[in-house]
Amino acid sequence: MLRGVALDFGDMTSKLERICRIRGLKMTDQRRVIARVLSESDDHPDVDQVYHRAVAADPRISIATVYRTVKLFEEANILERHDFGDGRARYEEAAEEHHDHLIDMRSGKVLEFTNDEIERLQREVAANMGYRLVGHRLELYGVPVEPDVEERGVKPFEPQPGKPDAGD
Ligand SMILES: [Zn+2]
Repeated sequence: MLRGVALDFGDMTSKLERICRIRGLKMTDQRRVIARVLSESDDHPDVDQVYHRAVAADPRISIATVYRTVKLFEEANILERHDFGDGRARYEEAAEEHHDHLIDMRSGKVLEFTNDEIERLQREVAANMGYRLVGHRLELYGVPVEPDVEERGVKPFEPQPGKPDAGD
């Protein structure tokens, strides 16, 4: 996935880079790398994760550059910032299509969804209060009902005989 592609840029221009150019942002080599990393990440990475991916493609990139660039992109509305409740700012390309998020509290995985009924209800709530809805953010926080034990590498719970704190 990302690692394979990130090292060989060729003539490929990432979607984010194209938007940057349209908006008239000056694109340095390092900004291009960071734009590409963000374009290719669909897991809502934080700055640290962006940095690690960017540095794999260009070791000269510093965390400070990543911070500055992400801030620049965010201010240009090219990037969307999320706070999923763990105190880390997480980023994704500004979406053309609206979506909401469900955060898996066990794995930290972020799932995207849209639901027409929820969209309708939100407009209705706003309308009932005398407003026309122009936007919203919705985050659901959940734990898997049936955790895929094998995938998560977690051993199923087994009471440990002799350990007083291992009971139900
Ligand atoms: Zn998203």
